[in-house]
Amino acid sequence: MKKPRALVTGGAGFLGSHLCDALLGEGYFVLAVDNLLTGRLANIEHLRNDSRFELQQFDINQPFDFGNVDYVFHFACPASPVDYTAHGIATLKVGSLGTFHALDAALKYGAKYFVSSTSECYGDPMEHPQKETYWGNVNPIGPRSVYDESKRFTEAVTMAYHRYHQLDTRIVRIFNTYGPRMQLNDGRVIPNFMKQALRGEDLTVYGDGSQTRSFCYVTDEIEGFLRLAKSAEHFPVNIGNPTEFTILECAQRVLAVTGSKSKIVREPLPPDDPKQRRPDITKARTLLGWEPKIDLETGLRFSLDYFRRAALV
Ligand code: UDP
Repeated sequence: MKKPRALVTGGAGFLGSHLCDALLGEGYFVLAVDNLLTGRLANIEHLRNDSRFELQQFDINQPFDFGNVDYVFHFACPASPVDYTAHGIATLKVGSLGTFHALDAALKYGAKYFVSSTSECYGDPMEHPQKETYWGNVNPIGPRSVYDESKRFTEAVTMAYHRYHQLDTRIVRIFNTYGPRMQLNDGRVIPNFMKQALRGEDLTVYGDGSQTRSFCYVTDEIEGFLRLAKSAEHFPVNIGNPTEFTILECAQRVLAVTGSKSKIVREPLPPDDPKQRRPDITKARTLLGWEPKIDLETGLRFSLDYFRRAALV
């Protein structure tokens, strides 16, 4: 039987590249499309000589046709607060123009479609933990709006293609995920703390550190994507780890795992920083039989070699 072909936008990114690996493992030919704005060739270097893998360096804000595909995974988007703030317009464009182009590619070839959305759709949430039915509390004109509203639009247009064109779509809402291949300088809390701890620098906790996040190790997250991709669910599904930590606790875990003597210092809290975030994963549990297996300390240990190599060059 002919192998199916998957197109992964953002295939050189942190999650996109791990997804490419997983899809190759599932027997797909994989075409990664990436403009390398925040993605990196290093993330897919190990696939360079794999005949089942192909990279197109291309900006999907332009229309594209890379031939027949069976599944489109739309993962292109700057995703860390530092990156999407630096590339605000590009972030809005890839969520709108880029999303239309990715949807049109799926429509043209009768392919299935899977899009990465985000817990940022819930904004600074008034409901805790967050269920998929919660509509969110998003500042539409604040500094995070370039990402939040871009992703909310992505969800809207994806549901519209499902409703008006009967496209076979899936939407995953991704909560904070970490692991090897994260950019050391993307400003997210785990790469920042790992880098600081490994270099013996102070760990910068923003605000009083009482804000919470729930961290999912990358292999757990990807397993959730694969299960959702095989399901028939069209409405959004949260995939994330429901164990919640304050940012101060997160800093302490990083110090413990790295054995670092770094100090914890305080810096100002960025505007509109969500005070709490934890997924309700009842839907993923019941629908997909999925739940994360790797706790924060274990995941940080699994990531240590990668961060050490990245931090000490
Ligand atoms: N944060 C921090 N120190 C850092 C980087 C981030 O205290 O060096 C905090 C940030 O203010 C937020 C949380 O860690 O409350 C998670 O930030 P991140 O940028 O990883 O992602 P977010 O979940 O805000 O999108």
